[in-house]
Formats: sequence, structure tokens, C-alpha cells
Amino acid sequence: MTPDEIQRLADRLQELEAENARLKARDGSTARLREAEEALAESEERYRTLFESIDEGFCIIEFFDGPHGPLSDYIHIEANPAYAQHAGIPNVVGQKLREMVPDEADAWVARYGAVLRTGKPIRFEQELVATGRQLELAAFRIEPASRRQVAVLFQDITARKKAEVALQRLNETLEQRVNDAIAERIREQERLRATEEALRQSQKMEAVGQLTGGIAHDFNNLLTGIMGSLELLRTRVRQGRVDDADRYIMAAHSASRRAASLIHRLLAFSRRQPLDPKPTDVNRLVMGMEELLRRTVGPQIAVDVVTAGGLWSTLIDAPQLENALLNLCINARDAMPDGGRITIETANKWLDERAAAERDLPPGQYLSVCVTDTGTGMTPEVMANAFDPFFTTKPMGQGTGLGLSMVYGFVRQSGGQVRIYSELGHGTTMCLYLPRHYGTEADHAAVAVRMEPARAQAGETVMIVDDEPTVRMLVIDVLHDQGYAAVEAKDGPEALRILQSDARIDLLITDVGLPGGMNGRQLADAARVTRPDLKVLFITGYAENAIIGNAQLAPRMQLLTKPFVMEDLASRIRGMIESDD
Ligand code: ADP
Ligand code: MG
Repeated sequence: MTPDEIQRLADRLQELEAENARLKARDGSTARLREAEEALAESEERYRTLFESIDEGFCIIEFFDGPHGPLSDYIHIEANPAYAQHAGIPNVVGQKLREMVPDEADAWVARYGAVLRTGKPIRFEQELVATGRQLELAAFRIEPASRRQVAVLFQDITARKKAEVALQRLNETLEQRVNDAIAERIREQERLRATEEALRQSQKMEAVGQLTGGIAHDFNNLLTGIMGSLELLRTRVRQGRVDDADRYIMAAHSASRRAASLIHRLLAFSRRQPLDPKPTDVNRLVMGMEELLRRTVGPQIAVDVVTAGGLWSTLIDAPQLENALLNLCINARDAMPDGGRITIETANKWLDERAAAERDLPPGQYLSVCVTDTGTGMTPEVMANAFDPFFTTKPMGQGTGLGLSMVYGFVRQSGGQVRIYSELGHGTTMCLYLPRHYGTEADHAAVAVRMEPARAQAGETVMIVDDEPTVRMLVIDVLHDQGYAAVEAKDGPEALRILQSDARIDLLITDVGLPGGMNGRQLADAARVTRPDLKVLFITGYAENAIIGNAQLAPRMQLLTKPFVMEDLASRIRGMIESDD
């Protein structure tokens, strides 16, 4: 039954009632009266039937002026049988809203009062709190408005609502369960990744162990060279034959340098993090290595270097790239036992979405360094395993299987990628892709400018703190050679006592790892409490860089990495003392 129909029926009922009254008053004719009464009865009958039989709850309410103000309450003047069923309240006719449901009366009056005032029908959902029923309702004004009546059609949708809520809750818990499962998966992956990382690190350490044998051998050779040279030098000096001295000095020097670089490589390899990424000119690096590479691969193999003009810069640890190139060239040499050709080529590469996806990289600008040989090439199986640590096809004692895995590790840590292109019987190209660095090559090398050590001014004093007497001795000799006064201390507390006196100190040179419960950095900080402008030069081994805070040194603090040559130390001291800040 639509609101219109109900309104029509209500109107008709009213008309008939009015007609009835008129007839009664004006005309006593029983026949016409009966006729009218019959018509009324018939109409009423139709209305009743409809009213009684519809499934929806239906009622007519009539507003009156209650104690809460004008039109502040209503009384139920009609209700169908379905009313009780849907609303859960029996015998509603004659009941006043505020008596029936006092707690929620305001809300209902507000809804229906608006309909009465405006004549605008409404459709809404509301809980009948008293019985806990969720109702869906439609209400419209019965005209004329002066009757103060509103008709309400409604049905109980509690079950549907409950189902909706249950469904929603199910959805929520489903989502929660899915989220839980995903979170668990992520944790699992992280555990896996951590395990893998640990494995990789332990493999690396194992490799270091394996390497140590070889390196100890190399090291002994170098030490033999150094000690032998020094011994011969001493003999010559004793005999006064100093013309030969330079030769031995040179030999000892070059052996020491090689020992230092060996240690550097070993440390670089065993460390977790990239050593020291700096903006690097790869063309210059490749050209700088050309001679070394040529010597390494031998005369049977030609080496061509093709560098691209305007090559971009990349942020990498240069010694590791050198190491990688050396490894690639040695592999190329091994693949060409009867000789051949190695081509090293650099290029700028702009990788679009597709090209980048093929290489498992984000799209963008890269530079490539490719090493191509005319050797045996690789089978698909070898290609698939080549980057695995300890994978080698070379006979015992020749291959370690670590070359490519180190190359891979380095390139990935630098945000790049390695790719193999190989054809069995024809040759191999190994390409390293390195991300472009926006910026120029840092001028960190500027400090290395060699200057003739000038003589110190009278009284300039340098303090050296190191627990190793040999280091102290060497540094003091350098200082005296240059005309500085020197003060020495073997640990932090001893040094601090002097620094807290008013002795003249123009520069503090200190080791970082020190005995006595105070490291070099702490010593410098403590000294600066009373001497805020004190210049400090740290001398450190590799592992100690973290204590200093790597590159983040305070003003007037510098760093020199062990081992260093005395010439570097001398110019660094000079530079620091002479500079104004
Ligand atoms: P190693 O050189 O000690 O065997 P690598 O990790 O450097 O270890 O190389 C792994 C393997 O990949 C080599 O044993 C070899 O089979 C293959 N390989 C690497 N580079 C080349 C190349 N340029 N040509 C052919 N095979 C190569
Ligand atoms: Mg190799």
C-alpha cells in the first residue's frame, strides 16, 4: 500500500463522514441517509481489509500539546495487527508516546514533528530502543495539516541488520586474519633474509680464512723483502757505503706499500658495509689500471680500453671496482689459454622501464663497464652458478670461486647490477651497471698536495699520543726533522694531564684505539674543554673509523689512516698548523 493510497482512503473516509453529518443535519430522509451510511460502511470495509491484511506495520498518530510544549507528544489513534508484530508493542492504540517510551520520545517526536510541520514525507531507519527492534520507516502527513496526523508504515529489519553486522564483523576479522598472515610472512622473510645474510657473512669469513693462508705467504714474502732491505741498509751504513742505500730504501718502501694494500683489500673484503663510497670517475680509474691489467694477463692477450666521452660519475668504493675489474680480467685470461683479446668499455646507459626490468634495476641513468673476451664462453649451467661463492670450474689450487661473488656483492651494494652475456666457443661479456651519481668528483684528493716541508717557527709544539713506542718514535723524528718541539704520551690519562696544564700545544696527534680507558676521540673532546681551539689529527686503523664518526669530523679535526708514509704525515702536520681554522 503506497502512502498515496492511504491518503486517498483517509480523505475519502473523511469526506464520507462529513457528508454523513451534513445529511443528518439537513435532510432527515432515511433512504438517503441509509445510502450514505452504506457507502461509508463499504469504504470503511475496504480500508479495514487493507489495513488489517498488509504485512507492514501501520499506524496513525496524532500530535497534541503536552507538558513538554506545543505538539510535544502524540497518541496512537490507529494501528494494524502487524504493528505489534513489527514493533514488539501490543495494544498501542490509545497509548501516548511519552508514556509508552519516555526515554526515546524526543527522537520520535523530532522525526514525525518535522513531517507534520513541513509536509515532507520521510524514509529512515531507527531503533525502537524499548524493544530493541531495528525499524525501517516511512511517514507522511495526513492532509489537511490541521488534523495534526501522521501516518507511519514500517517494518522490522532487526534480522537483516544483525546479518549485516555479522557479515561486516566477518569481513573485518577476515581482513585481520589476512593481515596477520601477511605480517607473519613478512617476519618469516625477514628471518630468512637475516639467516641468509648471516650465511653470506660466514661464507665470507670462511673465505677470509682460506685467503689468510695465501696472504700470510704473500705477507711473509713482503716482510722478508722489508727486513732484508733494512738489514743490508744497516750494513751499508755501518760500512759507510751510502751510495747503495737508496736502492734498499726503495725496495723496503715498495714492499711495505704492497703489504698495506694487501691488508686494505682483505679488510675491504671482510667488512659488511661498502668501504668508502665516493664520487668516482670510472674512465680515469680504468685508464689508471690499464698497465697493471696488461701485465697481469700477459703478452698473449691484447687489452683494449674504450672509454666513453662525457661518462657520468658514480658513487662507489674505487678500490673495490679496481678489484672487480682485476677479477674480471683474470677470469677472461683463464678463459683464453691460447691468447686472445680483452676489451674494456665504458658507456652511459639510460635504462627505460623495460631495459631496467630486464636487469632487475630501477629505471634511470647508469654507467656500464663491460669486459669482453674472445675465450671459451660459458655453458648455461656455468652462467647460472657463476656468481655463487665457491663455484668454480677450475682445477684445485687455481680457482677459489670467489671472484665473481665478490664482484656481485660489490656491485649490488653500490646499487648496481652485473650481467653475463656469453656464447660457448666465442667469448663472454661481463657488464657492470652502476647508478649515475649527480654531482662532480669530490676534491677530497686536494689534501694530498705534496709540499716541501717548511721549517717550523720557534717553539711550535706537537703532542703525540700512541701506545706503540715505534709509532711515537717515528712521529717524533718527523717532528724534529721539521723543527717542531714534541711532547709524547702513551695513553689518554697521561696525555690529558699535560693538555690540562698550560704547556704550549699547537697540535694533538693521537691514535684512536688507546689503552687506559679513554679512546682518542674522548681524549680530544676532553682536551677541548680547556682548549676549545685545539687542532687534532687522528691516526687510525680501519676498524676504528666508526669511533671517529667516519667523515663527520668536527672542525679542526682531521684523520690519517694507518699505514701512512712519513711524507704524508709531515705535510699533514704542516698544513694543519699553518691553517687558520
Ligand atoms: P674462479 O675464477 O675462482 O673460478 P669466479 O667466481 O671468478 O671463480 O668464476 C666462477 C666461474 O665462472 C669460473 O670458474 C668459470 O667457470 C666461470 N667464468 C667466469 N668468468 C668467465 C669468463 N670470462 N669466461 C668463461 N667462464 C668464466
Ligand atoms: Mg675468478
